[in-house]
Amino acid sequence: MIPSITGDTSTLFSTEPKDSLEELFDREREVGRLKESVNERLVLVLGLRRTGKSSLVLATLNSMNINYVYVDVRKVYDDVSKKVTVDKLIDELHSSLVSLSKKEKLKKALSELEISVESPLRIRVSKDTFRRVAIKIFDALNGLGKTVVAFDEAQYLRFSTVGLRPLLAYIYDHLKNITVILTGSEIGLLHDFAGLEDPNSELYGRYYKAIEVMPFTRETSEEFLRTGFKQLGADVDQRVIERAADELGGIVGWLVYFGKLYQEKGDAALDEVKEVGSRLVKKELDELFQKSPYYSHIMKAIAVTGNTRWKNVVDYLVAQTGKNLTNATISRDLNNLVKMGFIKKENGTYHIADPIVRYTLLEKY
Ligand code: ADP
Ligand code: MG
Repeated sequence: MIPSITGDTSTLFSTEPKDSLEELFDREREVGRLKESVNERLVLVLGLRRTGKSSLVLATLNSMNINYVYVDVRKVYDDVSKKVTVDKLIDELHSSLVSLSKKEKLKKALSELEISVESPLRIRVSKDTFRRVAIKIFDALNGLGKTVVAFDEAQYLRFSTVGLRPLLAYIYDHLKNITVILTGSEIGLLHDFAGLEDPNSELYGRYYKAIEVMPFTRETSEEFLRTGFKQLGADVDQRVIERAADELGGIVGWLVYFGKLYQEKGDAALDEVKEVGSRLVKKELDELFQKSPYYSHIMKAIAVTGNTRWKNVVDYLVAQTGKNLTNATISRDLNNLVKMGFIKKENGTYHIADPIVRYTLLEKY
């Protein structure tokens, strides 16, 4: 029998990012490291999509009784113009300041800027004034004492219409009460944006702490599903749990989907997760494939073979496109896909990092 979910009390299988430690499964080590890290200047939280980065950051910060500002950069990114505009960024920053508005000190500092945290933002800033306004906002935050500023999916900041690295460098160098957390699914791109290893970057050479959010192990995936079903009072066959753990690659977002769907669909749930998941992934891949004519072939080559060698990728690509592509072109695109986290390189072979992405490539392209 499949029991239904009663009420909307939060369970392990609820799909919003978790925002309290009580709701967070496992991750004690990551939580501990993040807590320690709020005394660093800069922290990067890295991991594939849907591995639980936002949940980790929100749950940890909420548990700490600490001032923080949380900006979801993905929300600010405009799909049509492919830009992050200063207006939207300031708006988003402003609305997260609202949660700190009880702080009289902040209110006062911002009112000098004619920014009211009680009413919607009225100022519209030009690119030129953006940096001035932003610096004042961060100065005001710094004046509050220890404050964390988190940019979620921060690799999108590279699409900002104004350069943000100088601002981050200013915070790093001068605002010692502020800790910046940048999370990113597109790990290499986040590194590129921050430019911590790039001599031309304003942030070059700065020390940072990195916390990697890995997919759950096979055992943890099973444990996650068992615990979630137990919360719901559902008695689910061990073989069902094993199969889901096998096929969903430890990616907690998919496990959550599965747990939720199993309530309605029973044994059909796993196929349904793949179907629903691959629809979601297809949108992401369609967007990705616009960026280079070879991405789709490269990923398909790797999806088909499993663990794929460089030479197999080249052969497939030549066969599919009929072109004699240079090694430089192929390796540039392949490296970009690795940077974006879609592909992993291990022991000299490549594979698709997320089994649902692989499934999508095999079924829908
Ligand atoms: P990311 O930010 O890496 O894309 P999210 O934090 O949005 O991932 O998590 C994806 C899904 O998995 C959400 O439904 C969230 O509730 C769930 N989730 C993530 N981490 C955990 C966890 N440790 N325990 C329980 N559920 C989690
Ligand atoms: Mg997230």
